Amino acid sequence: MIRVGVNGYGVIGERVAHAVAKQDDMQLVGIAKQHSDYKARLAEKRGFSIYSSGDQKAFEGSGITVAGTLHDLLVKVDIIVDATPEGIGAKNKALYEKAGVKAIWEGGEGHSISDLSFNAYANYNSAVGARYARVVSCNTTGLLRTLFPLHKEFGIASVSAVLVRRGADPSETSKGPINALELDKHLPSHHGADVRTVIPELNISTAAIKASTTLMHLHSVSVELKKSTTAAEVLELYKKYRRITMVSFKDSVSSTAQVMDMARELGRGYGDMYEIAVWKEMLVEGNRLQYFQAVHQESDVVPENIDAIRAMCGEADQQKSIDKTDKSLNIGV
Ligand code: NAD
Repeated sequence: MIRVGVNGYGVIGERVAHAVAKQDDMQLVGIAKQHSDYKARLAEKRGFSIYSSGDQKAFEGSGITVAGTLHDLLVKVDIIVDATPEGIGAKNKALYEKAGVKAIWEGGEGHSISDLSFNAYANYNSAVGARYARVVSCNTTGLLRTLFPLHKEFGIASVSAVLVRRGADPSETSKGPINALELDKHLPSHHGADVRTVIPELNISTAAIKASTTLMHLHSVSVELKKSTTAAEVLELYKKYRRITMVSFKDSVSSTAQVMDMARELGRGYGDMYEIAVWKEMLVEGNRLQYFQAVHQESDVVPENIDAIRAMCGEADQQKSIDKTDKSLNIGV
């Protein structure tokens, strides 16, 4: 059993903890939280051990049983998943170093934190046995999921993508915009460079816009392939990748609202959509391919975290890990 701890129990941490608890080759030793709140209370109800990562008094009077400090958790685990907010993870590296544990960071941290940015389809093998890795962000994961198969099958000459990003996660009432489309002033946006931390040779440029929605990100992706193809061929290719799901205007799926309605219908924990939803109605003209895809920012990185844990703790068989993760999370049904 791989002994796993999760530091930070917000949007990503809670989902990764639940996914770890579902694996028959992993043990969720505990989660580390700064404060007592409804999430801590629910985690306790689910039987998770809670460790305090902040002020020792933060849980006093809450009625929540605390099993120890973050330090106590670190001595009991083989690997820690750091799902603290952007920038905090980097500060925690010294703790993990000292405790001698393996560590995974999320996309809010930079590539340099581990010099190994991870995506299960694109570079699983490079993480086998690694001490540190970073699972790339939700948008980067979304781009890699659908670009990697094209890169492998046809070769990619160039990619241009426009990312319409959700303004906030559903529980983040203090973020926006509430009534605007806010442009990312950086052209290209950082997302293309982040994709290249996993596939360095990819010629990709991205632009980003923040929108007044909490459901999903939506990408419009234009790809210049090295070989000409047809929509039928691309659809056949994507069928081989369970973490891509095809949706269609013909089935009345014309927005992120219907994609997330489908996710809720699937009945998974949190009503999540781990797969990247790609519209079947794509434009293919010779070498040029254009498609829309929707990315559930809260959950697409969850299976990637599970595979990163397995790779780093010694599972050398990429397909075996992906199959196991997908089965446990009901992906590709
Ligand atoms: P979050 O704010 O929802 O949760 C962060 C958790 O860390 C909370 O439990 C918070 O209490 C705790 N925390 C805050 N300060 C801390 C500190 N100093 N020490 C320890 N714990 C602390 O954040 P999130 O959205 O889950 O993001 C976590 C990471 O995942 C970030 O790197 C983020 O960029 C990345 N990520 C987020 C999303 C998303 O859409 N939310 C998607 C992919 C990747």
